[in-house]
Amino acid sequence: MPSPTRRIFDPHIHMTSRTTDDYAAMYDAGVRALVEPSFWLGQPRTSPASFYDYFDSLLGWEPFRAAQYGIAHHCTLALNPKEANDPRCLPVLDELPRYLLKDGVVAVGEIGYDAMTPAEDTALAAQLELARTHELPALVHTPHRDKAAGLARTLDVLRESGLPPASVALDHLNETTVGPAADSGCWLGFSIYPDTKMDPDRMVRILRVHGTERVLVNSAADWGRSDPLKTAHVADAMLAAGFDEDDVDQVLWRNPVAFYGRSGRLRLDATAPEAQLFEGNSILRGGE
Ligand SMILES: [Zn+2]
Repeated sequence: MPSPTRRIFDPHIHMTSRTTDDYAAMYDAGVRALVEPSFWLGQPRTSPASFYDYFDSLLGWEPFRAAQYGIAHHCTLALNPKEANDPRCLPVLDELPRYLLKDGVVAVGEIGYDAMTPAEDTALAAQLELARTHELPALVHTPHRDKAAGLARTLDVLRESGLPPASVALDHLNETTVGPAADSGCWLGFSIYPDTKMDPDRMVRILRVHGTERVLVNSAADWGRSDPLKTAHVADAMLAAGFDEDDVDQVLWRNPVAFYGRSGRLRLDATAPEAQLFEGNSILRGGE
């Protein structure tokens, strides 16, 4: 059982792909707030309108669903790196500015490189500029393949953007990329996955070497093989390794609050809303 005071903020999780059972289990494990970055659906989108319906659901329906389980929901919006390569999706870049004005949006993201193409260069630079002009942080995904080269190129583009490092989180880091990422002054994001990539014990070893400052730990849970309780598993692994409750609170609550708090838009007092309906729909099935 988590301690009664444990509070967890998952700074990167795709709840649209998850169930109400996940929300209930996350609440039981101490999750009280989260950020859902916009990303691709697995299935390629064929028109910009598909993005707008998705963005609207990240600003409306999904926060409503989260609030039913006592969890504060925020989002980051962007044209994701993968779909930046599809010319059909590029008009999204022109619509983004009006979405970035909305209250539930706490950063521009996920942006960054997937295959490091010229189209991705263009979309990344344009969206870093949007973050700068909207005074929002940026959530920057580092590539899963060719990680060291991908990070080096990402850091070059970030320097050119003029966005302060304190407004940037570099996500999906691991042992090979944490050093140069830490030197950049950016926030350090780690996605904890089942079996592959980063796991809780590897995360604890990185915390031992690099400390708890500027570290963000997320589950990145989505429609793929993933686990929305990985943040809680890291908390348990930290305590087992000799970190104390205050260290856990810093990494799993105060750090993400400080990073996304730069937007001025966090709402951390979510309680279940009086209304059981969102635009006439509820999460219940059948009779009242
Ligand atoms: Zn993601």
